[in-house]
Amino acid sequence: MRIPLVAGNWKMNKGPGAARAFAQDVLRWVTDSSTKVKAKEYPELAVFPSFTALPAVADVLRGTAIAYGGQNCHWEPSGAFTGETAPGFLAELGCRYVLVGHSERRTLFGETDETCRKKVLAALAAGLEPLLCCGETLPERESNLTFTVIERQLRSTLVGLPSAASFTIAYEPVWAIGTGRTATPPQAGEVHAFIRPWLSRNLSPEVAERTRLLYGGSVKPDNVVELLRQPDVDGALIGGASLEVASFCAIANAATSYLTGLI
Ligand code: PEP
Repeated sequence: MRIPLVAGNWKMNKGPGAARAFAQDVLRWVTDSSTKVKAKEYPELAVFPSFTALPAVADVLRGTAIAYGGQNCHWEPSGAFTGETAPGFLAELGCRYVLVGHSERRTLFGETDETCRKKVLAALAAGLEPLLCCGETLPERESNLTFTVIERQLRSTLVGLPSAASFTIAYEPVWAIGTGRTATPPQAGEVHAFIRPWLSRNLSPEVAERTRLLYGGSVKPDNVVELLRQPDVDGALIGGASLEVASFCAIANAATSYLTGLI
């Protein structure tokens, strides 16, 4: 059974102080008996702070039901790679996840399908669960290349992974990230409905069955439920709306209400 995931990508926001305060507030909210989200209940929550804020977040969240992870990593375990962070360093801080191939890293920092594959392999070797982002740009969508792009990104990164490898995929149409323009639920749904059978054919039916497929792109408290109603959407990767405790928790609450059959 796939445990839905609501994950907040803070990007280059929140230094250690603000990140610690956020982690404390979310933990308080999760453990408050009046909220709908309870530890070990739907959905799993995770946050992705900047590297310098990770130790503060780890101080608060290590050993709790709220997971955290890095926004990027290098593929080597150590060495002369100034400015980079090894997956093992993230694991040492108690990270469960690492983002790989976020569109901002692809477009602004030269991330390629090839480096994504190396990072996925290195993350797995370090005991992390990679959260691989994929998605098409607006010109690609308008040229009917959405499925071609997704297939290329997935094929070059995932085919041939060990069958036990545990990873999550986030479908994030680039035109919906940070733009306020969310994919409609059917638009998100059709890509998710493409990815799961693709995983089945190209990795295995077991991998397809257990792998969580998140949607990301301007997810907000008032649109998360309609997105989750799509059969293959197992959660959300959230940027802007994850920066405020109130909106992050409101998204988690809405997701929980839906997933537990309350709405
Ligand atoms: C993201 O950065 O992964 C993202 C989905 O951002 P936003 O929710 O702000 O569109």
